[in-house]
Amino acid sequence: MADIGQKLKVIPAMDVILGADWVQTWLERLGRERGKRIINKELSIIRADIIEHGIDFSYDDFKASCLNALTFAARPSLKHVINATGVVIHTNLGRSLIAPEAIKAMSDIAGHYSNLEYDLQAGARGQRYSHVEEALCSLTGAEAALVVNNNAGAVLLALSALAKNREVIVSRGELVEIGGSFRIPDIMELSGAHLIETGTTNKTHLFDYENAITERTSMLLKIHPSNFRITGFTTAPERRDLAKLAHDNNLIFMEDAGSGLLIDGDVINLPASAGEITVRSCLEHGADIVTFSGDKILGGPQIGGIVGKKIYIDKIKKYPLARALRVDKVTLASFEATLRLYATGNYDEIPTLRMIRRDPEEMRQQAERMAQKLSGTVIEVDDATGGGSCPEISLRGFAVALKHRLGAAHIQKLLRNLDIPILCGVRDDEIILHVRTLQDGEDDLIIASMEKILNA
Ligand SMILES: *Cc1c(COP(=O)(O)O)cnc(C)c1O
Repeated sequence: MADIGQKLKVIPAMDVILGADWVQTWLERLGRERGKRIINKELSIIRADIIEHGIDFSYDDFKASCLNALTFAARPSLKHVINATGVVIHTNLGRSLIAPEAIKAMSDIAGHYSNLEYDLQAGARGQRYSHVEEALCSLTGAEAALVVNNNAGAVLLALSALAKNREVIVSRGELVEIGGSFRIPDIMELSGAHLIETGTTNKTHLFDYENAITERTSMLLKIHPSNFRITGFTTAPERRDLAKLAHDNNLIFMEDAGSGLLIDGDVINLPASAGEITVRSCLEHGADIVTFSGDKILGGPQIGGIVGKKIYIDKIKKYPLARALRVDKVTLASFEATLRLYATGNYDEIPTLRMIRRDPEEMRQQAERMAQKLSGTVIEVDDATGGGSCPEISLRGFAVALKHRLGAAHIQKLLRNLDIPILCGVRDDEIILHVRTLQDGEDDLIIASMEKILNA
């Protein structure tokens, strides 16, 4: 015990530490209270190591641990990372990148007062939705539109406003979970609508929907099976038939379209078999309401779009939950600018669309250049759109494969700990750097970091 007491004496008292020269710049950078908290936490870790494991710490060891913790804490938590995974819409890495035009709009609106809810023509209070409603209607053919925080919010809001305490019929083949947190049965319960499941997992016929209709039914709901496909013997009724059935029974036909495709899939080289249909065609096939995400294949900021018939959209806009899910002005500015790029057909200005339709030959050349500098090999890879869009469609891409004696897992860890972390794939114990998702200047950043790591 005397021994441990002796070892603990190496650690100075807090006020002595706070007076030390090497701590001062950190107290300024982090603020005194936060700096103190971080040192305190480090002290308890060191004390535990001494008491439980009998480890010997010198004053220098103690100082190095504190400096390490302080340096880490001073870095922003949310930071730029390099996506070398080849997954374009990577939910863990922030989904879609915002178009440069949209970033300009965001910074302009963020730093100035704006007419967010002010109608400049009338000189009176206006609606925040007005800034994107017309653009959304002209891109989708809808009568009316609004946007909220995200698509999960859009579905929740639409169900609450239109189907609370009523029954909503959904095919068992479409009761999906997306990203581990969006489950239709849960959202349904939260909205106060009653879920009526119909059909089976692989086959649901029109008569299944028909048989499930009661006097309590308010809606037929179709959900895009974003991140999975049931293949083999499957049946689902045509949208037109579902719409007709709904309308013959005075019901609403709503579709959760998931990704929010605003242009024909062939513009971004998506084969028809990908099963992605545009928001416009959902409406043309008879949907009264369509909801979708802004930051998946649409390539904009995180929003949930709700488009469709004016009588329903008006009801949704007035529903109190809309206030809780409302979109903020910076996001709105970004979304408006993104929609303008769609209106003018500047698809390559939208990073998500540009990356999905990149030319394979151009990617091969990029991989060649990097491989040469890194002494790696160029390989062909399957990239993905990601974000629950077109799960079974892989995009042909190119990557640089690198082998290192320390093993891929070890190198990956070093790459994650960089100031600008690099996320990549692994195959057969090789690091795989996909080029599709690299942004301007990131090739050079990767080369510089890799050289440092590999030669260390
Ligand atoms: C992604 C997705 C959602 C959730 O959208 P968020 O914008 O992430 O809230 C809901 N439904 C479907 C079908 C989806 O693909």
